Amino acid sequence: DELISQIAAGEVVERPASVVRELVDNALDAGATQVTVRLQAGGVRLIAVEDDGSGIPRDELAVALRRHATSKISSLQDLESVGTMGFRGEALAAINSIADMSLLSRTEGDSHAWQLDGRSGELKPVARSRGTTVEVRELFYATPARRKFLKTDATELAHCIEAVRRHALVRPDVGFAIWHEGKLIEQWRASDGAADQNAHDQRLSDVLGSELLAQSVAVDYRSGALHVTGRAGIPDAARARADQQFAYVNGRYVRDKVLTHAARSAYEDVLHGHRQPVYALYVAMDPARVDVNVHPTKIEVRFRDSREVHQAVRHAVENALAAPRA
Ligand code: ADP
Ligand code: MG
Repeated sequence: DELISQIAAGEVVERPASVVRELVDNALDAGATQVTVRLQAGGVRLIAVEDDGSGIPRDELAVALRRHATSKISSLQDLESVGTMGFRGEALAAINSIADMSLLSRTEGDSHAWQLDGRSGELKPVARSRGTTVEVRELFYATPARRKFLKTDATELAHCIEAVRRHALVRPDVGFAIWHEGKLIEQWRASDGAADQNAHDQRLSDVLGSELLAQSVAVDYRSGALHVTGRAGIPDAARARADQQFAYVNGRYVRDKVLTHAARSAYEDVLHGHRQPVYALYVAMDPARVDVNVHPTKIEVRFRDSREVHQAVRHAVENALAAPRA
């Protein structure tokens, strides 16, 4: 089972940022309102993700590290409508097979937290408020070949920040902080109210800069059961960067050709292709019409009807870009 986990890990964990993504997913699934990520050496030496979510009961700590242990799906039908980020129960087992891991957690009813050492299985009581801290040390220690493929700490750190950014842009109701080598390098405060348009705008401005927000237009377009919201940026050509394209489907960050192409087409039609598209687009749709179980990292999706989605996104962005600006 260790070997199978290591093979699965190869698909799920490419670099420290993959671990960050999975752990933040879990924190959000647990209902966290504050997520703190601590890194050392770009995440290679340490990734610790701390949340104030529901916690893991003592008896389930060891289970959580087992392959295909998930508390999130209880029937095949659930797969049609997964509302959680995780559902395959592979991430923790995979990470545990390629790094030194510890789980530290306290649920509402506990008087203290329990810490489980992933390698020895040792369980001991520790002090902590409600929530979970997952610590991952020395990623790829047992697979020097994989470790060799990692880039410099600065590059790995940038990827880790990007992973948190992707979560932050879709959850303005959650606060995020990133520390590296003991220094606070990013902090995005939670909106006090709901995750409404104002909260989204504020978060966009915090994460990508107020300038981008000022030079963007709101996207809000419905087509049948599809709803596309977000912001399309129209910054100076010189300032636009290729890495500022964020697309989400039902709250999940995705990298998808249909969405990218649709947005790009809209920019070409309206702005005649002179600008690098910059956007954060949120597609809300019937979960039964999109398959998120395509790839272990769940970053790819498959639409039942990709033409329908393409058209909606293209029209959404076209309408926004073409609307008269104040
Ligand atoms: P999945 O997210 O697909 O269920 P994971 O391997 O990521 O699988 O996590 C395994 C299980 O561990 C989860 O189903 C959940 O029950 C528990 N878990 C992991 N991280 C947390 C967390 N931060 N807070 C509460 N429970 C967690
Ligand atoms: Mg998970």
